[in-house]
Amino acid sequence: MTTIATTNPATERVEQTFDALSEDAVDRYVGRAAEAFASYRLTPVGGRAAWMSAAADILDEEADRIGAMVTAEMGKTFTAARAEARKCAHACRYYAEHAEGFLADRPADAEAVGASGAYVRYQPLGPVLAVMPWNFPLWQVIRFAAPGLMAGNVGLLKHASNVPRTALFLEDLFRRAGFPEGVFQTLLIGSRQVERVLRDPRVRAATLTGSEPAGRSVAAIAGDEVKPTVLELGGSDPFVVMPSADVAAAAEAAATSRCLNNGQSCISAKRFIADIGVADEFERRFVEAMRDRTVGDPMDEGTDVGPLASEQGRADVEALVADAVGKGATVLCGGERPAGPGWFYPPTVISGVTPEMRMFHEEVFGPVASLFRVRGVSEAVELANATGFGLGSNAWTREPDEQERFVRELDAGQVFINGMTTSYPELPFGGVKRSGYGRELSQEGVHAFCDAKSVWIK
Ligand code: NDP
Repeated sequence: MTTIATTNPATERVEQTFDALSEDAVDRYVGRAAEAFASYRLTPVGGRAAWMSAAADILDEEADRIGAMVTAEMGKTFTAARAEARKCAHACRYYAEHAEGFLADRPADAEAVGASGAYVRYQPLGPVLAVMPWNFPLWQVIRFAAPGLMAGNVGLLKHASNVPRTALFLEDLFRRAGFPEGVFQTLLIGSRQVERVLRDPRVRAATLTGSEPAGRSVAAIAGDEVKPTVLELGGSDPFVVMPSADVAAAAEAAATSRCLNNGQSCISAKRFIADIGVADEFERRFVEAMRDRTVGDPMDEGTDVGPLASEQGRADVEALVADAVGKGATVLCGGERPAGPGWFYPPTVISGVTPEMRMFHEEVFGPVASLFRVRGVSEAVELANATGFGLGSNAWTREPDEQERFVRELDAGQVFINGMTTSYPELPFGGVKRSGYGRELSQEGVHAFCDAKSVWIK
């Protein structure tokens, strides 16, 4: 039985527990969603945009309070949590402004199909189940909800069991912003209750961000029910540094990326691949930058790295490091948990990682970097792609030919050249291979939750 609770990762203190909804209650929520959809789908996009803008204003105005709530539930620094609330406000505004254009009928060549009029109409799917993780507990939800609701869908959120306050806040946010009753609801349920919701015929689609096993399970059930899904799973992003790069800037961005969200981001760079021409310098600067990060109280604005979100999460990271060290890898910094309460783990750099080690293939969800050396672009690309994941990727080079090869050859949903992978409402976001499928954000993020209906009129 899943415990739904707020436990402060910095103190390990359980602050509040919540009862999971009963099956009858879940049925009522789903019924309310279906009922809300029947009228909400007919509301003008302009009206939805006004509500979405109001949600943006609340996120901005209350960013401090929201940030403190998130920090107490999952341990990211207060500075990062507040920035996340503001980023969500930006995404809500982006869709409030652009959704009408994204959803406009797309004209087709009527003459070619023997009609007097032909076009594509984008229509909402219906109630969408969103299974979401704790690591960006606001952003991951808004990334679906802003485009999804603007398209006329209604949302049912099953959030991670360790962020119930944030989950309830999000329901409240959309209600206060003016969205009609039932358009966005939070289901406080454990993962075992997901299948029943997903199989309910009133639920028409699902989106999941989280681990591969969770994604596989949801996609299998949705496949059985012939319902569309968007999956955003893990990543083990490569970060390649070539001889022409600005190595100082690359090393600083590398440390920022690896320590982002206390090391728990799907698009953090995790595997650092330096060309032999700059490998010594990059290693020295990168290790220094990782050592310089301040680990401590996440509420303190001087802290760079707070605790991991759960005891299990830290144990998983420690097991991956122990496996690598046991098989001959070298710890260049970090590698030991500090004494005292809180699930802290220091920024850690490991060299000598080989394919026999779990870390070579698995996602490390904590501030632990593996460092590799290669000779030339071909070796760099080969190593970068030698993983089942394909979410983001980073390459640092000033050579246009090399840039083009990385853009073309890296197996990933995103490639960032001379910068750190991040997500923007303006650019589509998603993975290839075992990092998932479908795209969120930008125009693709609206169309992901729409039927493209062909209209032919004579
Ligand atoms: P999970 O994938 O287990 O959790 C994400 C969401 O999926 C939660 O809402 C969870 O609910 C739900 N869930 C879990 N299992 C199932 C299932 N079988 N059916 C339906 N829903 C399910 O992530 P964890 O928190 O356990 O983290 C484990 C690993 O996942 C991390 O170490 C990391 O590698 C990866 N991860 C990746 C993320 C990303 O952004 N790509 C985000 C979070 C994790 P509940 O909390 O109730 O179990």
